[in-house]
Amino acid sequence: MPTAYITHSDCYKHLTPMGHPEQVDRLRVIEDSLAKSNFDTLLRISAPVGTMDQVRLCHPQDYVLQIKNACPNHGYVTLDGDTHVSVGSFDAAMRAVGGVCSAIDLVIGGEARNAFCATRPPGHHAETDKSKGFCLFGTVSIGAKYAMKKYGLSRAAIIDFDVHHGNGTQDLVWNEPNIMFVTSQQMPLWPGTGEVSETGAHNNVINLPLKPYSSGAELMDAYQHSIFPKLAAYKPEILLISAGFDAHIKDPLANLNFSTEDFKNITKMLCEFADKHCHGRVVSTLEGGYDLPALADSVAAHVNVLMEHAK
Ligand SMILES: [Zn+2]
Repeated sequence: MPTAYITHSDCYKHLTPMGHPEQVDRLRVIEDSLAKSNFDTLLRISAPVGTMDQVRLCHPQDYVLQIKNACPNHGYVTLDGDTHVSVGSFDAAMRAVGGVCSAIDLVIGGEARNAFCATRPPGHHAETDKSKGFCLFGTVSIGAKYAMKKYGLSRAAIIDFDVHHGNGTQDLVWNEPNIMFVTSQQMPLWPGTGEVSETGAHNNVINLPLKPYSSGAELMDAYQHSIFPKLAAYKPEILLISAGFDAHIKDPLANLNFSTEDFKNITKMLCEFADKHCHGRVVSTLEGGYDLPALADSVAAHVNVLMEHAK
């Protein structure tokens, strides 16, 4: 079975002010990187528009309409300090939602072994009724809840290796006993949450703070020794990944020391876990990553491993 690669040109229409790190070029460099011949066997899928029912798995309708109505005809509207919307932002965010749900359909339906969604805006900072940190809708959480609702899965796991705490995902799954959320983040760093003591209402949230300048090997060590035993006991039927690449040593927004090779190895480690415990089902969706060459290389390494595990 192939690896699905899901994106849509509408994701270029979410414009951010000049100099903003979450820029259109992020998607452009990823697309250029995955246009190379070694990615020819990807199952390339155009992300459908997400439905209101899908977004409402995580957000009240009033909030969704508030985001839609905030998008101006010209220029930008600032929703909070660093989250902006332009004319195409709602459509882009709805493609991100539709993209992750279509990835779930492909992977659970047996048309793809695993999937990567290259969509923007990212999602893991968006809370139930609050946009935050470049994010409008909690894409990865919507994917997890969609998988459970549509396919009757008993349990899902979300892994977040973005350098920033997945505060939004944590908020969206806090009371959800059937979704385990594991998030690693540099601490101290924005948004400031993500302490070990934040465990969810059902001990379903695992926070893994990392000191500045930590390496990828330290994260992998924590997974092998303390996370995987808990995850295996939890028995998730699918693994979703909030794939942020801003823990890269070259990233301008943080201070971790991950290499491109580390992202390859982390992906391998997660795919091996999924092979053993989750029928190989992995759905990964793009979060952060702001050094363009490092982002392009890291995504290529990530997708390459997904493809190797899809054979
Ligand atoms: Zn981030």
